[in-house]
Amino acid sequence: MEEINELVTHWVRPQIRQLSAYHVADAEGLVKLDAMENPYRWPEALREEWLDLLRKVEINRYPQSQAPGVKAGLRRTMAIPDDMEVVLGNGSDELIQMIAMTVAGPGRKILAVEPSFVMYRMIATFLGMEYFGVSLKPDFSLDTASLLAEIERTRPALIFLAYPNNPTGNLFKRDDLLQVIEAAPGLVVIDEAYAPFTDVSFIPLLGRYGNLLVMRTVSKMGLAGLRLGLLAGPAAWLNEIEKTRLPYNINVLTQISAEFSLSHQSVFDRQTAAICQARDELFLQLQNIKGVEPVASQANFILVRLAPGRAVTVFNELRQRGVLVKNLHGSHPLLAECLRVTVGTPEENAAFLAAFTP
Ligand code: PMP
Repeated sequence: MEEINELVTHWVRPQIRQLSAYHVADAEGLVKLDAMENPYRWPEALREEWLDLLRKVEINRYPQSQAPGVKAGLRRTMAIPDDMEVVLGNGSDELIQMIAMTVAGPGRKILAVEPSFVMYRMIATFLGMEYFGVSLKPDFSLDTASLLAEIERTRPALIFLAYPNNPTGNLFKRDDLLQVIEAAPGLVVIDEAYAPFTDVSFIPLLGRYGNLLVMRTVSKMGLAGLRLGLLAGPAAWLNEIEKTRLPYNINVLTQISAEFSLSHQSVFDRQTAAICQARDELFLQLQNIKGVEPVASQANFILVRLAPGRAVTVFNELRQRGVLVKNLHGSHPLLAECLRVTVGTPEENAAFLAAFTP
């Protein structure tokens, strides 16, 4: 045993040994409001139609490498301009990794804001890239001056900006993002994972800036189980990024299911509209609770700040009462005493509020 430990210590890169693996909480039996999933299932008739399709799948065959049906469905539903290229990932997590692999190398840097999605930093670490995090302002808006100064100082190969941002839920100012895109010497990826819950996007600007790419996922609209993300942008970039894609990264079940569900987009549109309405109601309810400061959200979750010393206790009490949210206290100084609650069905949100004694 000791021998194994020595071997591991010797060979595993120190950066990896120091990492903690991305933590996924056990949600068995709990009202699951921790992971920004869509809480709604499909209408029964749709499920039957889908199951009929699955019966015909040739599971013994490799999937179609380019997944043309999926790409066409995503192009249509996400209004990707015809002159832009598309690359698919096994979740947008995998796309973050592919983009980073494409530009990684000695001295190559990734820059992001903090707090934001933790995979930007983790993937920089996986690939031995230097990572720089620029703190947001206390109200979670972009600190544009600091960001521009850090871009000038570090000359990053790659910048990730989530729009809306996770875990704060707010949108950065479009003009500030444009300044970043204009100042960046390398790629800027606008991560629009929460696009189904807002009406703004950088997709119409693709092609106007030579360094702008937009990333989307189907996870938050209601297909988190499929693991499917999309990167859109000019062919000159995407043809290079495509080379880092593993040959069959979008499996046959995902392909057939995504193609089918994207042809029923109105079902998801109704669900995401219901989630937006529930979000706005939950926000107003949270605003009326003493000792709770909710952050206005354009996503399908709400960040709440509690009174000093309360976040961990309230998180544990919620779990004991059967509701799982995300505790962010301790993950970044700006997130002190913060919990993040995903917007569920009206019944789930009521269960959360009933169990919530801040
Ligand atoms: N980007 C952001 C901003 C996210 O919050 C998430 C998921 N939490 C992802 C990307 C990854 O999404 P997926 O891999 O499910 O497509």
